Amino acid sequence: MHDVIIIGAGPAGLSTAFWCDGLSLDTLVLEQAEQVGGQLHRVYNPIENYLGLKARNGEELLVHFTKDLDAAEFDLWTQVEIESVDLKARRISLRSGEALQAIAIVIATGIRPRELGVPGEKEFIGKGMIESGARDRQLFAGKDVCIVGGGDAAVENALLLAEVCPTVTLVHRGKKLRARREFAERLQPNNRITVFTESVLTRILGKEEVEGVEIQRKEGLKPFQLAVRGVLIRIGVEPNSELFREQIATNEKGYITVNSQHETSVRMVFAVGDVSNPIAPTISSATGAGATAAKVIASRLNAR
Ligand code: NDP
Repeated sequence: MHDVIIIGAGPAGLSTAFWCDGLSLDTLVLEQAEQVGGQLHRVYNPIENYLGLKARNGEELLVHFTKDLDAAEFDLWTQVEIESVDLKARRISLRSGEALQAIAIVIATGIRPRELGVPGEKEFIGKGMIESGARDRQLFAGKDVCIVGGGDAAVENALLLAEVCPTVTLVHRGKKLRARREFAERLQPNNRITVFTESVLTRILGKEEVEGVEIQRKEGLKPFQLAVRGVLIRIGVEPNSELFREQIATNEKGYITVNSQHETSVRMVFAVGDVSNPIAPTISSATGAGATAAKVIASRLNAR
């Protein structure tokens, strides 16, 4: 029996763990990946708005976040596969057969990029699928590329890649881009960028590597093919909440609902970070939420 089990070791989970540790709670962190850090591994831009710390990218911020990990007294298990969770009983069964129990559970499972679900999307990972314009710019310099999405991420990446790619084709399903004005206004004068609205990318084509895409413009029109060597999909994010959804209140998009103490609809089950924060999914909010949840748990345990 642990005082606290934290599921997920991104900024929110790590912050909760350090705070629980400081408050002398017996804490176990379960992380499915090989390494801690969560989405920090996918932040390739400079981080300039985390109070008191600047970093060239997520990896560099993670070095700061984990510099005291060896000295911390909480247990951290990586590459853990959870079989099932009983939130009311606060019991967790692992694929390895182990059963764990805690007084409090903290869900810090974060979000993931939404997938388009078209043929080629998975097959061409590492063979022409672009992970990030900021990271892969030099790899795709001089090549024609296609980007799917109409939000800030798609448009920011289009602008970035247009600095080094001869043509960038942006494919957006809606009539109007959703990206902020500051980004959208820079698209029009850029003659390397072509925007197809009300259009859908239906297939990614190629033999060994990406060689093209198939695009369907408006219902009923025949799809056409476009030769490109790189494809970037930026169509938003989804919360990693599937494991808990049937036992807990979420909003219509699956984000876990919490109160101001970060407690969910199940008593002594808390959620912190992006999985419960569709409004402001930031690193600062995530680490702050971890501190709040830890303090609330400690005070509940002390009052027992
Ligand atoms: P958004 O949710 O803002 O936009 C997602 C876009 O993808 C929408 O245009 C949506 O279309 C489209 N979309 C969603 N699902 C599909 C689908 N199945 N098929 C085709 N298109 C689809 O997500 P982003 O990834 O752009 O950004 C995520 C968050 O990160 C946002 O909060 C954003 O503001 C932030 N961000 C901030 C940046 C910065 O500050 N520099 C840079 C990049 C991102 P529709 O409009 O029709 O719904």
